[in-house]
Amino acid sequence: FLKGKTAVVTGSNSGIGLGVAHRLARAGADVVLNSFSDTDEDHALAEGMSGEYGVKVRYIRADMSRGDDCRALIEKAGACDILVNNAGIQHVAAIPDFPAAKWDAIIAINLSSAFHTTAAALPLMHAAGWGRVINIASAHGLTASPYKSAYVAAKHGIVGLTKVTGLETAREAITANAICPGYVLTPLVESQIPDTMEKYGMGRDEVIEKVLLERQPSKEFATTDQLGDTAVFLCSDAAAQITGTTISVDGGWTAL
Ligand code: NAD
Repeated sequence: FLKGKTAVVTGSNSGIGLGVAHRLARAGADVVLNSFSDTDEDHALAEGMSGEYGVKVRYIRADMSRGDDCRALIEKAGACDILVNNAGIQHVAAIPDFPAAKWDAIIAINLSSAFHTTAAALPLMHAAGWGRVINIASAHGLTASPYKSAYVAAKHGIVGLTKVTGLETAREAITANAICPGYVLTPLVESQIPDTMEKYGMGRDEVIEKVLLERQPSKEFATTDQLGDTAVFLCSDAAAQITGTTISVDGGWTAL
């Protein structure tokens, strides 16, 4: 049902962004994949998806830590009916030890990038008469954990930006929503496991159950496919009156 629509998914050569890109392509959308790496693998990924789903898939390099790159991504895409702001990084440290450069990078990539892409994409959505802004926030957009100051601040920020975007587009066939995942086993989470094993003197399975999924009552990771399908739902007519809000996919985390 998304035939003829173009979806731009930021940070989509791995993890959740890639999962969302797959599901949007499967639903018929043309897709723009993005990251800042620009490798042969990135272009091969786009080609493979295009063949798999019979839609147009392009890879466009843009560094989401730079506002001008974010805007150029939308310009180069040429059309943007569905904007998925997904690029994100993490750093874990107590506030007094938190490197200022990491704070700046996380705010830029996890929050400001969405402001820039949204600013560039909304005029295209207005012109097309339809649009969907989907921000990948986090359970950390609604609740906090220690040692994740920049991440929690950025994710709360993107939930606020989502509400404003929803209000500014409320009279048009455009919606803006944030998906708030709990833990999803992606490279971003995988990379936290070795340090956590060392810190707690635990094995991999114990770290997953007792540390990572400690606050996820389902004791299961959400999957990238489930997040992709949530994004597809937000693009459907059933979701036309859902705007300016959040959808949690967190196994009950935020109910605690
Ligand atoms: P990931 O590390 O697998 O993917 C991150 C993506 O962002 C990659 O494609 C990477 O290339 C891209 N990226 C990073 N810096 C970039 C930059 N400067 N410019 C362009 N692209 C850049 O991580 P993920 O777990 O798939 O995370 C995706 C999003 O989901 C993030 O916003 C993250 O905060 C959010 N999230 C993840 C989880 C989880 O448990 N994995 C939970 C809640 C929210």
